[in-house]
Amino acid sequence: MEKIRMTTPLVEMDGDEMTRVLWKDIKEMLIEPFVDLKTEYYDLGLRHRDETDDRVTAESAEATLKYGVAVKCATITPNAQRVEEYKLKQMWKSPNGTIRAILDGTVFRAPILVRGVRPSVRTWEKPITIARHAYGDVYRNSEMRIPGPGKAEIVFTDENGNETRQQIFDFKGPGVVQGMHNLDSSISSFAHSCFQYALSVKQDLWFSTKDTISKTYDHRFKDIFAEIYEKEYREAFEKAGIEYFYTLIDDAVARVVRSRGGFIWACKNYDGDVMSDMIATAFGSLAMMTSVLVSPRGQFEYEAAHGTVTRHYYRYLKGEETSTNPVATIFAWSGALRKRGELDGLPELQAFADRLEKATLDTIESGIMTRDLALLYEGEAQGVNSRQFLQEIADRLA
Ligand code: NAP
Ligand code: MG
Repeated sequence: MEKIRMTTPLVEMDGDEMTRVLWKDIKEMLIEPFVDLKTEYYDLGLRHRDETDDRVTAESAEATLKYGVAVKCATITPNAQRVEEYKLKQMWKSPNGTIRAILDGTVFRAPILVRGVRPSVRTWEKPITIARHAYGDVYRNSEMRIPGPGKAEIVFTDENGNETRQQIFDFKGPGVVQGMHNLDSSISSFAHSCFQYALSVKQDLWFSTKDTISKTYDHRFKDIFAEIYEKEYREAFEKAGIEYFYTLIDDAVARVVRSRGGFIWACKNYDGDVMSDMIATAFGSLAMMTSVLVSPRGQFEYEAAHGTVTRHYYRYLKGEETSTNPVATIFAWSGALRKRGELDGLPELQAFADRLEKATLDTIESGIMTRDLALLYEGEAQGVNSRQFLQEIADRLA
């Protein structure tokens, strides 16, 4: 059989622990037999990050800026215990944080739906994708306890020393205050990433804030989205037959629960934090969530939403059998290959991505799956180990 051709390399970011083991198996069993795989390889495993003083992480992000598409394995974000375990030179920052800062991107998380694992909300038939703005607001706040009577104010001092003041509250007794900020530049990048991603997957985009109450702060978000949409995206959206609409966060919540799914929901930082956990749980399993980082200029980095599955890895090291779910990592590969095919005009590569996903879902729908899913599955399920599961998919692909 002739292998499917690629013309531009994918940026491949290898990672840690159990997902690193799966990574190699997925490549060897599901991709390399069918695709003449071209990648530019970056080893983001913790050891190699430490050896390179974490330069490899920045280099992999820069390669993504250059080539446009990356696929990433889950990686350890070091804490004190990891510094000890790996004898690290220092507590390196989260790779995802470093990559996101370089790409200036937004993360979109979407569940993978499979027949037999039903969402808690009965009407949801298609995935709901959450886009969370990952800058500012309450995550970069300044807050204070107010011990007793006194006046709290916001003061802005411009470059020339001119002050603008506004009263927050005239306290008659103890309480609390909080100040927060955001940036037009960050909100614009967020908006561009959302519009780019909606066009890329041809789904409607919803955006919600609380602008009726926050008439300046949240309103700024609404205005920036509206301006950018009108100026740069309306025409493309109409051509693609998709819609952008803005609504209040409480209205959005009600509509989401009544919907059939199949759209992107853009949220401010806090709303996205809360709503993404709600959506993920209601759809079933962390092991079935995909994640893609999209830059405002339309570069894409695909990964699984879960971590390195440490507990399974320690069992694997002891030689015990593991049943770790590889589905989200397989979909990271298929997502990246499909996007590469789209950008390079390689319909066969796009078709392969579709076949890989279908073979994976068909395997589960035939009752063969890893044990985490078998617990959720309605119907006769055979829980197998990771390699047996991958082998079943490979057989279907061949
Ligand atoms: P985790 O790796 O997502 O695993 C948490 C638990 O969820 C697992 O112990 C397992 O439960 C279940 N699980 C997650 N993915 C699964 C899968 N594919 N198949 C089967 N079960 C799965 O989160 P964590 O234990 O909090 O973090 C471990 C490491 O991952 C940390 O070092 C963290 O820094 C890193 N991390 C990386 C990323 C990323 O790179 N994007 C994201 C999150 C965390 P059971 O043990 O009960 O089976
Ligand atoms: Mg959270």
